[in-house]
Amino acid sequence: MSYLTQKTIKNNINFSGIALHSGLSVNVCIKPAEPNFGIVFKRVDLKENNIVYPNFINVSNTSLNTTVENEFGAKVSTIEHLMGALFGLGIDNALIEIDNEEVPILDGSAKIFIEKILTSGIKISDSPIKIIKINKEVTFSDGVRSITIKPSTLNLEIEFQLKYKNEIIGNQKNKVKVYEDDLSDVYNSRTYCLFEDIEEIKKKGLAKGGSLENAVVVKNNEILNPEGLRNKKEFVNHKILDCIGDLYTSGYRIVASVTCSQGGHYLTNQLLRKVFQNKDNFSIIEIKEKNLPHTLINKNLLRSIA
Ligand SMILES: [Zn+2]
Repeated sequence: MSYLTQKTIKNNINFSGIALHSGLSVNVCIKPAEPNFGIVFKRVDLKENNIVYPNFINVSNTSLNTTVENEFGAKVSTIEHLMGALFGLGIDNALIEIDNEEVPILDGSAKIFIEKILTSGIKISDSPIKIIKINKEVTFSDGVRSITIKPSTLNLEIEFQLKYKNEIIGNQKNKVKVYEDDLSDVYNSRTYCLFEDIEEIKKKGLAKGGSLENAVVVKNNEILNPEGLRNKKEFVNHKILDCIGDLYTSGYRIVASVTCSQGGHYLTNQLLRKVFQNKDNFSIIEIKEKNLPHTLINKNLLRSIA
C-alpha cells in the first residue's frame, strides 16, 4: 500500500445548508468512487445531462465564486472550498451529488468539508496517482493583478498577497507548502467582504444567503463578526484556499510554485487556460512506488489516516 496511490472517501458524506449566492437550501451527498473516476458533480435535481466536470475548461463564471457548467447548461457554482478540501486531503475520486446549482457555503470556509471527509475516512486504492508537473513559467496579468506558475521540485508552493486600502485587511501576505504544511488555518479561513461592497453585490443578485454566519464582514476599522478573526491572516489564507480549490480544476494535483498578487477565481482560471494551451508547459506524470517523493505526502494526511 502506498500513500501515492489514488484515494477516495470510505463512506458517503451528507451535508445540507444555505447557498451563499442563491440563498436556497441545498443537499449534497459525496460518494466514494473507483480509481481514475476523478471528481465529478451530478445534479440529481435534473433528470438528464446532469453530469458536470469541475474542469477549468468548463468554468463559466468567476465572479465571487467558481462556477462550472456542462454543454447542456447544467451548472454547479461555489465549488472552490469543497474542491480545496478534496485537493488538500488528497481525494482523487468522488461523485458529488447535489440537488441544486450551488454548493452550500456552510461556515464560509473548508472547515466542515475537512471534518466530514476525515470522519468518513479515506480509502486507498492500488492505482498510482497522477500529478501535473509544471515545466515552464507562465504568467497571467490583469492590470495590477497577476498570477505566475513556475516549476518546483516536489511541492506545491502558493504565495499570495493582498493589497487593500482598508487598514484591517491591508497588505496581507502568506506562503504555504501545500503537501508539507499544516493547512488548518487555510481550511478554517472564511470568505470575506467589505461592508461597503455588500449593496453592490446584492444588486447583482448575489450573496442572498450571505450573513455573519458564513462570511467575515469588514467595516472601516472594524470586523462586524462578534467572534472576530479565526487566525491573523484569515483574509489571505482564504484566498490561498480558493486558489488551491481552483487549481484542482486542472484535474490533478500540481507540482509547481504559484505566486499571486491580488488575484482570485478569474486569474487562476485564466492561468490554467494559458498553461494547458501549450504542451511544453507541463507534464502529467504517474508516481511509481520506486521514486517516492516524500514531500508529496501531506504529513497531516498521514497522521489522519495512520
Ligand atoms: Zn472563497
